[in-house]
Amino acid sequence: MIKRLTALMLCTIMLMTSVFVGNVSASEITATDIPAAVSESDKPTDTPAATPTDTPKPTVSGTDTPKPTVSDSDSPVSPDNPPQNPDDPTPPQEPEIKFDELKTVLTAKTAGYNSIHLSWEAVEGAVKYEIWSSGSLKGTYVYTVGVSDATEYTRTGRAFNKTFYYKVRGVNSDGEYTQFSEIASAKTQVLAPNAKAASYSYNKIKVSWNKVAGASGYMIYRATSANGKYTQYKRITKGSTTSYVNSSLTHGKTYYYKVRAYRTSGGKRIYGAYSEIVSAKPRLSKPSTVTLKRSSYYINVSWSSVSGATGYKVYRATDPEGDYILLGTTSSKKRTFKNTSVVPNVVYYYKIVATRSGVEGLPSTVKSASAVMAKPSSFSAASASGSSIKVSWGTVSGATGYVVYKSETADGEFVEIARTTAKSYTDNGLTLGKTYYYKVAGYRTSKGLTGVGTLTAAVSAAPKFTAPAISSVKKNSSSSLKIAWKASGGADGYYLYRSTSKSGTYSQIAKLEGNDKVSYVDEGRTSNKYYYYKIKAYRIVDGEEVLSSFSSYKSGRITKKVAYLTFDDGPSSNTIKILDILDKYDVKATFFVIGKSGRDKEYKAIVDRGHTIALHSYSHNYAKVYASEKAFWNEMNKVSDKIYSVTGVRTKILRFPGGSSNTVYKKYCRGLMAKLKKSVPAKGYYYHDWNVSSGDASGNNISKYKIIANIKNGCKNKTTVNILMHDTGSAKRTTVEALPAIIEYLLAQGYDIQPITEDSVLIQH
Ligand code: ZN
Repeated sequence: MIKRLTALMLCTIMLMTSVFVGNVSASEITATDIPAAVSESDKPTDTPAATPTDTPKPTVSGTDTPKPTVSDSDSPVSPDNPPQNPDDPTPPQEPEIKFDELKTVLTAKTAGYNSIHLSWEAVEGAVKYEIWSSGSLKGTYVYTVGVSDATEYTRTGRAFNKTFYYKVRGVNSDGEYTQFSEIASAKTQVLAPNAKAASYSYNKIKVSWNKVAGASGYMIYRATSANGKYTQYKRITKGSTTSYVNSSLTHGKTYYYKVRAYRTSGGKRIYGAYSEIVSAKPRLSKPSTVTLKRSSYYINVSWSSVSGATGYKVYRATDPEGDYILLGTTSSKKRTFKNTSVVPNVVYYYKIVATRSGVEGLPSTVKSASAVMAKPSSFSAASASGSSIKVSWGTVSGATGYVVYKSETADGEFVEIARTTAKSYTDNGLTLGKTYYYKVAGYRTSKGLTGVGTLTAAVSAAPKFTAPAISSVKKNSSSSLKIAWKASGGADGYYLYRSTSKSGTYSQIAKLEGNDKVSYVDEGRTSNKYYYYKIKAYRIVDGEEVLSSFSSYKSGRITKKVAYLTFDDGPSSNTIKILDILDKYDVKATFFVIGKSGRDKEYKAIVDRGHTIALHSYSHNYAKVYASEKAFWNEMNKVSDKIYSVTGVRTKILRFPGGSSNTVYKKYCRGLMAKLKKSVPAKGYYYHDWNVSSGDASGNNISKYKIIANIKNGCKNKTTVNILMHDTGSAKRTTVEALPAIIEYLLAQGYDIQPITEDSVLIQH
């Protein structure tokens, strides 16, 4: 046998103690554990003892075990160990090291209060490792356990706080042994805890650790700087307790801790190794809830209270990962914040931090929201001129201004055309008659951002002429009215319309070319009659006239005192006398005649002398005239035919026997008068009642003074008078006698005495 000696052999044995190696697993170990005390019979077959000749004795040896063989496998080739084949012509190879010259390196560490962890380097060729142990360095080493397919082993069930010594050797498949390793030892101890420290509230830190096997309790040490002096701070007297809350601390200050476990043995606390140093800072907790409520133009932030807080800070960002800017601070009592510096449709991210004496706690979870903005109410669009449209809308709460969008089709793309702080906008340069579509929304600007709110639905309008307003209708002469209006922007001319009633048919009476034609004289108008006028402007676009809508109407009249002298029930023996008087004063009257034989001379004289002849029924018999609508028209047609046959005149002017307000007709045909009042104008006739009565029908030959007085009285305060008199021969002689005085009175009062025509003012009951 070749003996080897290495420097290692002279090394003193390293005692591996108090080294924390973490969780040691023994699951790979295949050998069965055996008790610490190994009987002689369990000993493996002895191996040839190493008998060094030229080296000192190894310093370690067992008493009742084979001598550990120590050798160095890395030693150079010995002359006593020549190449295996001396005849080989190749140069000598590195000599092969024999298995029994090899030796592993063993490490022992404490694995807990009752266990030791062993590990060693693998030896090539080894199929098994024998672990030998001893309770003392120089005591007897006994075979303890064999381990296959592993290079580590945890020895459990050891006595606490005691050092154990081990050595290991390998065995190959031929049953050959390596040399024993150097002796390694370790002491059973409680392990170092794995500690943590974290803020527990504004003035508390929670120190926690894992449960250490076999621990009777733990000792907590504290310092105020990492490398400062650690003082024994708190002893935990239960091995199952794994945390401690350190209270009454200073907010924001860092505290340092280390923890070690102990096991009581023989009335004494035996301590394990210290944990790593851990530190924490007591900080205010984060608000557990943050609530965001969005409104029309702001976001309300509220949050839950934090114990120990003296105030809160509200931070906001527009990017969740971006810079959070301080928005504001509140007192500890106020846990809401109204954030008005927001704009619609931008997402804002908020977090809340509690503060105590200016030191911030932990930030809350980030919450996000975006504000909305209502759409403008009462949005409308209307033509403002022949080339512009005005859009108008209502206020939107929180809006900085408004954005107006336009499209040329209802479902087309709406393009922004204006931003304004006003509540209306006039879009100019448009095409007359073309329809345009608009939408509007509020916008809000804050801190460099602008957001647009909810859009209205589209509204449309087309540029039209503003109907020019008629400014006046005034008397121009005794028979003409002058109509004036204001020029319409963009008009090329105007159409003027007239009606004789407010809501009647308006007929075009003139076309006025040129924007500056802003008045017109309407000739041939009747005094005291109201005329109604409307106007439209036109503009020539692509050769075609585009019209404005109608203006509203304006009315006027030629005010004049007019008297209509009317004589009913003729002709008679008085007719010529009456005509002579009228001729004398050169005034014309109206005769409502009935059918009479032998009076053709009078019928003709009325017409020939320039007076108006009119219808009053043929028989003047109420029972006949008012028997029916048909009977009425038979009566009127009959007298009309009579007049026509005698005078050649067809008249459309009539007076109801008894006037339109008579009640006698009801005896013959109820409801007839209402029908006649409609059918008379419908057939193109004009019926006239009276507003001054001479009273000559109240009896035969009433005093002429009485007749004159009645007429004077009836004319008071009247501009237009229709005076009722009768032409019935001998019974009405006094009417003829009163007539000159009546005419003189009317002329003196300024009345223009006229015959009734189709244009005359209608005096109707
Ligand atoms: Zn009559």
